[in-house]
Amino acid sequence: MANYLRTEGICLRRLAYSNTSQVASFLTPDSGRLSFMAKGVTRAPKKGIRTGFDLLGRYEILYTPRRPGALQNLTYQWLREDFHGIRHSLRSILCGYYAAELALNFTIEGYPCPGLYRLMTEALRRFAAGQFLGMNVLVLELGVLQEHGACPAFDHCIECGGELPGRGPVTFSPPDGGPLCPCCEAPERGRTLPVRADYLQALHRLASGAEPEPLAPRRVVALSTIVRFHMRWLLDRELRMWKYLQRRQLSKSLRRVRHHVR
Ligand SMILES: [Zn+2]
Repeated sequence: MANYLRTEGICLRRLAYSNTSQVASFLTPDSGRLSFMAKGVTRAPKKGIRTGFDLLGRYEILYTPRRPGALQNLTYQWLREDFHGIRHSLRSILCGYYAAELALNFTIEGYPCPGLYRLMTEALRRFAAGQFLGMNVLVLELGVLQEHGACPAFDHCIECGGELPGRGPVTFSPPDGGPLCPCCEAPERGRTLPVRADYLQALHRLASGAEPEPLAPRRVVALSTIVRFHMRWLLDRELRMWKYLQRRQLSKSLRRVRHHVR
């Protein structure tokens, strides 16, 4: 008898497969990112009607597991939450697509991530409500880096462990995993970023789980710039959604990242 598992997940990506099937990637709390073969999922209940997974929909799913790395066999799904409102604004849906891209790039197949799943669900609800999009994006960016074990330090010199200057510019070095104090810095062109000390303090508070404070949009963009500079070094490429977020004036960070890696 088949061994069925039940879980829930957020649809991060889906691709058509044959006439009536889809291959879909989900973020699940208990098994991280999982990819499913959903046979017959787009089969029309009536002529002229197409069905399939809603991108970013939260589903309860029933599946039969396969070996790690293989496509899991999805048996049944129930849509539990469609984050109503996220498609009413272009900025909200772009943030939603970016959340999916972050989860696809910074989660591991089969590895439980209940904290990140909760963070992702909350972020999508806030995007749907259209509130404080930039700050919610930044909180999610820090969350995926922490889940991935790749979040840099922000509160001390990564080389000597010493205190950072309270004011003025500090060198932030992704290859080292955080900032360098004036005694330790040895800037390599294109791999470090001069940042304001108070921006690092703000990032440290957010990464430590402090309740986000209302910040001016320009300040949020500056904080995201630092986080994305680090991500670009980790991935050795830019994420696809950055340029769209920038185009909508949500973030000018990509231009700054390009400027510094040139
Ligand atoms: Zn130092």
